[in-house]
Amino acid sequence: MTTAYIGLGSNLSNPKDQVRQAVAHIGTIKQSHIVAVSSLYLSKPMGPQDQDDYINAVLALETTLSAIELLDQLQAIENSAGRVRKDNRWGARILDLDIILFGDDIIENSRLTVPHYGMTEREFVLYPLIEIAPELVLPSGQSLKSLLDNVNINEMIKQEAICF
Ligand code: ATP
Ligand code: CA
Ligand code: CA
Repeated sequence: MTTAYIGLGSNLSNPKDQVRQAVAHIGTIKQSHIVAVSSLYLSKPMGPQDQDDYINAVLALETTLSAIELLDQLQAIENSAGRVRKDNRWGARILDLDIILFGDDIIENSRLTVPHYGMTEREFVLYPLIEIAPELVLPSGQSLKSLLDNVNINEMIKQEAICF
């Protein structure tokens, strides 16, 4: 059994509903169950600024799937939400599901980089994550708390909790 942390994001088609529905869908993934879900957060877009603000959250999932099997499940959920993959990096999207951590595994292959390469500098990952895993330590040995010392909240605003 592995505890995976999954980052959720949306800035299209009622983002709060998209994220809530995604949590419900993740709750149906085989060999897995959700153990914690952060509040929703309203955050500023990365990259292109001509797009709406994002809704983000992070959840903890206990699973006996492999990391690649979990990615397959998450991409199927993105697709079923109507995500269309475009060339513009970090452009608007209906649903983005990233594997932030997969236990203490370090994974580097053509489909997966875990821990997620952006987690150490993204406020919309770190602040929701510490809400559900305050004592978390990364595979590198760095504590989540120490990472947060160096990351500005960047106008992000905490919103309501999510039921799961
Ligand atoms: P970013 O990766 O900077 O957050 P993004 O989420 O917009 O950007 P996507 O277009 O959603 O990027 O994903 C591109 C590819 O990233 C996916 O097809 C997937 O194979 C790969 N990928 C690598 N590592 C991960 C990870 N930890 N979680 C999810 N996808 C990953
Ligand atoms: Ca992402
Ligand atoms: Ca992604």
